[in-house]
Amino acid sequence: MSLLEVRGLRVRYGAIEALHGIDLSVGEGEIVTLIGANGAGKTTTLRAISRLVAPRSGEVRFAGADLARLPAHRLVQLGICHVPEGRGIFANLTVLENLLLATYGRRDRPKVSQDLERVFGLFPRLDERKAQLAGTLSGGEQQMLAVGRALMTRGRLMLLDEPSMGLAPVLVEEIFETLAAINRDGTTLLLVEQNAHQALRLAHRGYVLETGTIQAAADAATLARDPEVRRAYLGG
Ligand code: ATP
Repeated sequence: MSLLEVRGLRVRYGAIEALHGIDLSVGEGEIVTLIGANGAGKTTTLRAISRLVAPRSGEVRFAGADLARLPAHRLVQLGICHVPEGRGIFANLTVLENLLLATYGRRDRPKVSQDLERVFGLFPRLDERKAQLAGTLSGGEQQMLAVGRALMTRGRLMLLDEPSMGLAPVLVEEIFETLAAINRDGTTLLLVEQNAHQALRLAHRGYVLETGTIQAAADAATLARDPEVRRAYLGG
């Protein structure tokens, strides 16, 4: 059984149907990427999985549980963490406060400091800047903080919405290396990316989303060789 199973997911915004009934699955321990052009529905897919938008129809199952039956806040307790596009960090709180806020509601307090050490190990720059207001961080550092904050929830599945957006190439490289390390430590990743090249290098499997429909699904190496995918998403 897959950790995450999405079946027939449909989402409408008023008169516009953004997702026309998509199917996808993510196995425990996998990195799966969802690639597609602007407006294809990638963000909507993640938002529907984490119940930030209500699907018209379809099913989302996580570890066998039907998520439609649960309130959104229960998802974090189940182990789903969402790193949204635009990062959503609290600009007027310090780096440390942003990280600790994510542990609110956790009952395993002694493990919190252990997790903090892990995040600072993965992102030494956050350690150096832990007393700094998050709003004064660079774009790359804010992205690290958003990922670090998700890690503090000890999720089993991390949903990442364009973690490379707006970053200089060297930082993109760094973020992708860190995601690989997070996955090696046991976290399953569903990664939405416009940077198809990097995403397909990192992922085990991928889906291509075009205007609300899954157009292709295969292991990442196969997608990266596919002539259509190369033409549309990898610059030929
Ligand atoms: P991007 O990379 O630009 O974020 P995306 O693949 O993530 O694109 P979505 O943001 O999921 O795509 O958008 C899918 C479609 O739904 C688009 O046509 C978009 O205009 C529309 N849409 C998204 N959010 C809303 C909203 N809140 N209200 C109305 N339409 C929306």
